[in-house]
Amino acid sequence: MRPSALTRAAALALTLALANCATNPVTGNPNFVTVSESQEIQIGRAEDPKVRQEYGVYDNAALQQYVNEVGQKLARTSHRPGLEYHFTVVDSPEVNAFALPGGYIYITRGILSFLNSEAELAAVLGHELGHVTARHSVQQISAATAAQVGASILQIFVPQAGGALGDTAINVLGGALLSGYGREHELEADRLGAEYLARTGYDPQAMVKVVGVLKNQELFDAAVAKSEGREPRAYHGVFASHPDNDTRLQQIVGEAARFKQAETRTAREEFLRRIDRMVFADSPDQGVIRNNTLYHTELGLAMRFPQGWRVKNQPQNVTAASPRNDALIDLRMAGPAQGSPAEVLRKLARLGSGSEVMPTTINGLPAATANANLQGKPTRIAVVFLGKNAYAIGAQAQNSQAMSRYLPEIDAAQKSFHAITDQERGLARPLTLRIVTARAGVTFSELARTSPLGKNAEGHLRVINGMYPSGEPVAGQPLKVVE
Ligand SMILES: [Zn+2]
Repeated sequence: MRPSALTRAAALALTLALANCATNPVTGNPNFVTVSESQEIQIGRAEDPKVRQEYGVYDNAALQQYVNEVGQKLARTSHRPGLEYHFTVVDSPEVNAFALPGGYIYITRGILSFLNSEAELAAVLGHELGHVTARHSVQQISAATAAQVGASILQIFVPQAGGALGDTAINVLGGALLSGYGREHELEADRLGAEYLARTGYDPQAMVKVVGVLKNQELFDAAVAKSEGREPRAYHGVFASHPDNDTRLQQIVGEAARFKQAETRTAREEFLRRIDRMVFADSPDQGVIRNNTLYHTELGLAMRFPQGWRVKNQPQNVTAASPRNDALIDLRMAGPAQGSPAEVLRKLARLGSGSEVMPTTINGLPAATANANLQGKPTRIAVVFLGKNAYAIGAQAQNSQAMSRYLPEIDAAQKSFHAITDQERGLARPLTLRIVTARAGVTFSELARTSPLGKNAEGHLRVINGMYPSGEPVAGQPLKVVE
């Protein structure tokens, strides 16, 4: 949850003109999309500030410049060299990279922490560039607009135009962009990315390498997520089979060898130097989740979600879904702490004067609670004032049986909201990625013993160093550790 999410502009107006045929810049064939190139640029330009506000731009000018330089070099050799490209590192721990239409490409610092050379960075950027040059996102938006994709099964707070609760518009677009484009488009992006790598002086095999790195990350994260009861993180370009066994990926990347230059650049040490001291995992202004508890030092709050529920720290809210997905808890900011919590709650849930709202306190903080029926589903809402902000903690279940089953857990979660303590601030300390030189004989198990990464540290260190599942450091090599 980001403090700034509250003030984000409301509506996303995707004004799409009548369908017209555009030529695909890669194939030269006409493809049926509803977006022209100038509209595409317009969409990108309009959405870019929202993405920047939603995710936050990672605050490191030198790293931004480096990523942009690598991206621009690739873009010049691409099928759409005339577009104006923008490459931005966003301040998110998620493992992701994505592109808006019109040349806006984003890479998370989360994915950067898993990469081990400039060639791998170029492969991720080249893949996204491939989506842009082949106009995949444009085709996706056309489809998304038609189908109105979006909302999750349970959505407690329905967005109001201009209201304090924010909107899901960017999620409609973001959902389409982040979840991927399907196997064929992903392979096409890999093929184009590999070609741009080769033309720019990298080995196109870096594409296979990076898919392998991200596949290992996915395997590791799936194992950890299972033990922590959360959803695993996966990058959209990675599919079921491991790249070593993926003959189609091998084949399309192999074809890019004809563009390969005599000398290729890997730039492992250069890349590692650039990401030394980068923030690792959650950043302090998003709050951190440890063992299903949210610690938010910047907002000064902490809250415990039920054990076994899947907790997701999103820019606008923190949600926890029950294991069976039939109940959801949603914590978010609900405007300034003005008037009383009861008044804020009434307005938020649009409760009439007939509905009962109970003023109360939660851990000494002014609060109010109510039971309501929102979108036909039983819902318990608490509003709490802390500092100058009001917070809403909604809990909704699929039906009344589910609500009574989860009531004790929901109640405990709502009542656990409190001002963060000094001890909890310590737990929420942000982590930093450091590059060190491996001593002779050092092992990941030894490094894990003093690592703040907890019980999964050994696997975690292997995977960020590209040595998952069983590699060990070689004396003298640069090594990523987390402090
Ligand atoms: Zn992709």
